[in-house]
Amino acid sequence: MVTRITEIVLAGPRGFCAGVERAIDIVELALEVCGPPVYVRREIVHNGYVVDKLRAKGAVFVDELDEAPDGATVIFSAHGVSPAVREEADRRKLRVVDATCPLVTKVHLEAIRYAREGYSIVLIGHEDHDEVIGTLGEAPDRIIVIDSAAEVERLEVPNPEKIAYLTQTTLSVDDTRDVIEALRHKFPRIVGPSRDDICYATQNRQAAVKTVANDVDVLLVIGAANSSNSLRLVEVSQSAGTRAYLINDVRDIKPEWLIGARRVGVTAGASAPEVLVTEAVAALRQNGATAREVHVVDENVRFAMPAELEQMARERGITLPERTVMRQSI
Ligand code: SF4
Repeated sequence: MVTRITEIVLAGPRGFCAGVERAIDIVELALEVCGPPVYVRREIVHNGYVVDKLRAKGAVFVDELDEAPDGATVIFSAHGVSPAVREEADRRKLRVVDATCPLVTKVHLEAIRYAREGYSIVLIGHEDHDEVIGTLGEAPDRIIVIDSAAEVERLEVPNPEKIAYLTQTTLSVDDTRDVIEALRHKFPRIVGPSRDDICYATQNRQAAVKTVANDVDVLLVIGAANSSNSLRLVEVSQSAGTRAYLINDVRDIKPEWLIGARRVGVTAGASAPEVLVTEAVAALRQNGATAREVHVVDENVRFAMPAELEQMARERGITLPERTVMRQSI
């Protein structure tokens, strides 16, 4: 790659969040405890590199539970599932290990509580995303999904005095604020979380991109096309006036994107492994460009393993290894 790049600016934090780390660890540990094959419903996280690595170790990815044989061990992805999926797993006597991110579970619990209390629930999110499909399933008769402030105008609910909102965890912080403001304007009695349900990892990666975007000519976001939080990073950069491109890995970089660029920013969505960042930076530095990181906040979030996995390990007399050791493998 022949370029005139003089500096690479890495956004920090970037890449894996605690929920993704946990989900990958769960698949690896389940393979170790139960032995292959272990079935995973949908992509465990939205990243093809991660999925391929786990497939090579014996994970079998399926779209629906009917593709897994009776009695199989099945892992639910980090994005969560609807109660209908859990019921089907129970009926089929599948051994389930739930890798739903605890921050997604929190949104499910809020939906259940509001529904039980008789609220109409506005779920701000993308209706075709696995996470939203799962949350919607908690109370399909009570939840209306919207994804823009423009939709608020047309929104009608049975009782405007009894309305709540929730959000997908991986939305644009700024866009979501606009939608919530529009909701509050139209429904002054609306209730919801203190701000929104956008998770710490999504917020931190967007904050880092905002800072880096001011400093570079173009930004490369490493992430999959179906990764919501990665797509939002592209939008955040573009909103700040800096061109941004989503790439799966270094092979997707088009030389014409870099024409005239002196400083190139690099970040990664929450489901993209650091090895892909390292490869991209190495390619961009071939002509001697320096690299530095702009780190806006430290992260030290960790989630516990699901109790059912600990139980499976105990039954087989296996002690689960340290998660940090497992993490080296992707
Ligand atoms: S992006 Fe946020 S909600 Fe999604 S898995 Fe990571 S921490 Fe959990």
